[in-house]
Amino acid sequence: MVFTLPPFFPHRRNRDGSFDSICLKCLITIANARIEADLAAHDMDHVCNPSILSQQAFDRARTPR
Ligand SMILES: [Zn+2]
Repeated sequence: MVFTLPPFFPHRRNRDGSFDSICLKCLITIANARIEADLAAHDMDHVCNPSILSQQAFDRARTPR
């Protein structure tokens, strides 16, 4: 399976003011940081290792109906 789309890592703000970076392909929290800009380095270092289940969900989500 070859990934044709670049990875996308939305950032979520937590109640305590910190930020999580989440990988939508393997559905894990990559990193948590006090400053959102600090997440960029973690995003670039992330090596995607999606489970079969999350990969199927990802493929289904981007397939037009
Ligand atoms: Zn990933």
